[in-house]
Amino acid sequence: LVSRKRHKEDTIVSVGDVAVGGKKPILVAGPCSVESYEQVRKTAAMLKASGVTVLRGGAFKPRTSPYDFQGLGIEGLQILKEVADEFGLKTISEIVDPAHVELAGQYIDVIQIGARNMQNFELLKAAGDVKTPILLKRGLAATIDEFLHSAEYIVSRGNTQVMLIERGIRTYEKATRNTLDISAVPILKLESHLPVLVDVTHSTGRKDIMAPCAKAAIAAGADGVMVEVHPDPATALSDAAQQMNFDEFRKFLEEVGLSV
Ligand code: PEP
Ligand code: MN
Repeated sequence: LVSRKRHKEDTIVSVGDVAVGGKKPILVAGPCSVESYEQVRKTAAMLKASGVTVLRGGAFKPRTSPYDFQGLGIEGLQILKEVADEFGLKTISEIVDPAHVELAGQYIDVIQIGARNMQNFELLKAAGDVKTPILLKRGLAATIDEFLHSAEYIVSRGNTQVMLIERGIRTYEKATRNTLDISAVPILKLESHLPVLVDVTHSTGRKDIMAPCAKAAIAAGADGVMVEVHPDPATALSDAAQQMNFDEFRKFLEEVGLSV
């Protein structure tokens, strides 16, 4: 169902009035984690002023260590909703438990399935049973074929509103956090009709190359780019090293030339 062979036209995913997969690439920006109402509100105000329409923020954080900040859970989703309603933004947040998929639709506009859960088949099935758009991340070491099969799990249950996002894969290279597989973008666009985005934050883990990587993503045909931005990255409860501050973010926007 996700294959271009049977369905030639591009799928446009509607996130409220934001169309993903159309002619204009979108930008998804926001903090790694929802930490507090004030932190999200400050970020949302800056994004709104910059013309960004889609806010991200993790409430359920799948952390490598059980001792690291695990996220605010449902309270985090409530904060996102409150702030998004105030500023008229759309929201994306990760859900990790199939039992939360239906509930999430009350708070957020797009459910993200994270890299670590790309092959959590019960979660994929639950995501397929709702109408909420899904942003599916490529697994840490998933092939493009495995990635597309995971999308198929969702679409085959009836939810056609699926977006794919390349977020870097594991290689031996240590200069970046992961290796951004830029070739995945045109391949996914050829093989599938679903919108394709690129997460330049988690793929590179480096603020100094985010703008050129975002430009490369768009040049390769991506329908959107995701970045992390935080009011005070040094104090962030997750991914402190790779989140942009507001000045860096505005510079990024200018350099990439995304008319968001
Ligand atoms: C995220 O986007 O918040 C995240 C945890 O990314 P990934 O699943 O790609 O590691
Ligand atoms: Mn992060």
